[in-house]
Amino acid sequence: MPDIRDNLAAVRARVDAACVAAGRAPDEVELLLATKTQPAARIAEAIAAGARLIGENRVQELAEKDLELTALAGPKLFERHFIGHLQSNKVNQVLRYVSCVQSVDGVELADRLQRRLETLDRTLDVLVQVNTSGEATKSGVAPAGAVTVVTEVAKRDRLRVRGLMTVGLQSPDEAAVRASYRALRELRDRAADVVGAELPVLSMGMSGDLEAAVAEGATMVRIGSAVFGPRPRPA
Ligand SMILES: *Cc1c(COP(=O)(O)O)cnc(C)c1O
Repeated sequence: MPDIRDNLAAVRARVDAACVAAGRAPDEVELLLATKTQPAARIAEAIAAGARLIGENRVQELAEKDLELTALAGPKLFERHFIGHLQSNKVNQVLRYVSCVQSVDGVELADRLQRRLETLDRTLDVLVQVNTSGEATKSGVAPAGAVTVVTEVAKRDRLRVRGLMTVGLQSPDEAAVRASYRALRELRDRAADVVGAELPVLSMGMSGDLEAAVAEGATMVRIGSAVFGPRPRPA
């Protein structure tokens, strides 16, 4: 069975090849490991193999794994982002662990974060999550409201809005998947014009479709199963 180090190298090679195919420089695309359901020891293995950016979906799981992960991997070697749906009553807790919340999905959450960050006297990088596929099960702002939400978030002085995130369409139809990623890039371009800031980050693409995302301008792909293997499914 290939180990995490081999899988990580294989994923990096896929990203690099996708960049070359798109006429982009491979260092334009960062790899974030989506580590939901993975025990701290496996995440630490990935960090030992060179991973630097970790994404977690649930605050409770993030908190539960924190001590062990920090002890195994060393606190300075990795950075964590929050990539799941963030309930407003978990805002205080999540800020202890992450340098970026990728899943800001409305002004109300932005306000909660802003108030807490004022108390802590710090700032936070954020991405606005957009539901580009329109599936009811997906979180994120509807595309039609995305530019307005980015504009509002950008007014909160403790939040540094760096760009947009999407989970994209889950479909075997490659053209439709690419269209959902293209939609995110186009929304980013419009929002950047309105806000008058660069919004450089496009977080999109997962194990099954990172090539499509890189072709449409992803600057960060979020990878789980291609590095860790299939996730154990809850019964
Ligand atoms: C799980 C997850 C990923 C990675 O999915 P894989 O298909 O396992 O690569 C990416 N983004 C989010 C938000 C996730 O929850």
